[in-house]
Amino acid sequence: MDTREYYERLGSSAGSPSGLFEHFEKHSVDGRTHHILPDARHGVERGTVIVEDADAIVRGFPSIARIFVLETGIPSVFEADETIAIEEKLNGSNVRIADVDGPVAFTRSGYICPYTTDRARHLLDLAAFFDDHPEKMVCAELIGPETPYTSHEYDDVDSHAFRVFDVRDRASGDPLPVTERRELCAAYDFPQPQLFGLYDTDDAPGAVREAIDTLDAAGREGVVLKTRDESTMVKYTTASQHHSDLAHAFSLPFDYGRDFLFSRLVREAFQAAEFEEEGAELRDRAHDIGESILLPMVETIRDVEDGQPVGERHTVRGTDESVAALLDHLEHQSMELLVGADYREDGERVVEFIKVSESTQDQIQYYLDGGTRDV
Ligand code: ATP
Ligand code: MG
Repeated sequence: MDTREYYERLGSSAGSPSGLFEHFEKHSVDGRTHHILPDARHGVERGTVIVEDADAIVRGFPSIARIFVLETGIPSVFEADETIAIEEKLNGSNVRIADVDGPVAFTRSGYICPYTTDRARHLLDLAAFFDDHPEKMVCAELIGPETPYTSHEYDDVDSHAFRVFDVRDRASGDPLPVTERRELCAAYDFPQPQLFGLYDTDDAPGAVREAIDTLDAAGREGVVLKTRDESTMVKYTTASQHHSDLAHAFSLPFDYGRDFLFSRLVREAFQAAEFEEEGAELRDRAHDIGESILLPMVETIRDVEDGQPVGERHTVRGTDESVAALLDHLEHQSMELLVGADYREDGERVVEFIKVSESTQDQIQYYLDGGTRDV
């Protein structure tokens, strides 16, 4: 690979090509070489990929900061005379689709997922889009109850679906402005997250508060606030999301880091403080949080006691090849899978599987057997 050339094209803050490329990992994908950046470095986003044979750079999706207090967070991030788009934030997995060898779907960390690629080709009219926009990438969330990564129920999604929330230049990562992007997606019939509207900075906290109330009541994740040109973005999430994150993490307590748990509690505390709840309302919230923490953990302890497998349960459906390729792909990433039901429905293969959480299983078994710990 001509590292100097790619170094220049990537426009990083590294002082030399070797200073940047020492952080890349080389992977062979179907006989082609991919150089993947596993963590953000020198101004280049995590998940950035160089596909040498296609002479293509596919930039990673940038990290989005979070605000904790609407009244002060919004005016501290956005200029006073700004117009802010409030768009729903969906809870699924981040996918970038780029036409490097036909359209392929990259995960957040830069791997091609064969299953997501197949689903994207099936559900989105990518041929038409990439004919007109070969140098762009489609950034989407794969959502629904049946996905191999983050599964979440949505009223309007029976199995799985994509929601396109960004269209970017794949080499520079530069986004299209919100309005232009939404029109472009509509032109190709790409489903999109809902837009709550465009607001002045002054009006945005109230508008977000209303959107959050509606989303929370529906068990949905939250919002992303964006300047019209998308040069600035921040996120804010609902109580129901904090609770379900905690419930999930505490069902696998020894597989999730403490930072994950603590950060959800902090989000919830600032929201409770800002939303001026007192007395009964605050107690209800505290009660709910307690349930999210304790009930799933007790259930998991009982499962281990009963000899039941412990881990994340997923269902996927698709073509025979794409489902088989997915199971291979996950096992390749050293995941232990337990495949349960495996059947055909409406011409598709449906597989239910568990990503086994060995740390949780082993640690719980150890304590159940009378194991001790020094602290
Ligand atoms: P990071 O903190 O690096 O952004 P994360 O995986 O913790 O990573 P999230 O908290 O889920 O990220 O928030 C950012 C993600 O939200 C984006 O990467 C994207 O996948 C997802 N997302 C869903 N809907 C939208 C939307 N409307 N606009 C932008 N991102 C969205
Ligand atoms: Mg997410």
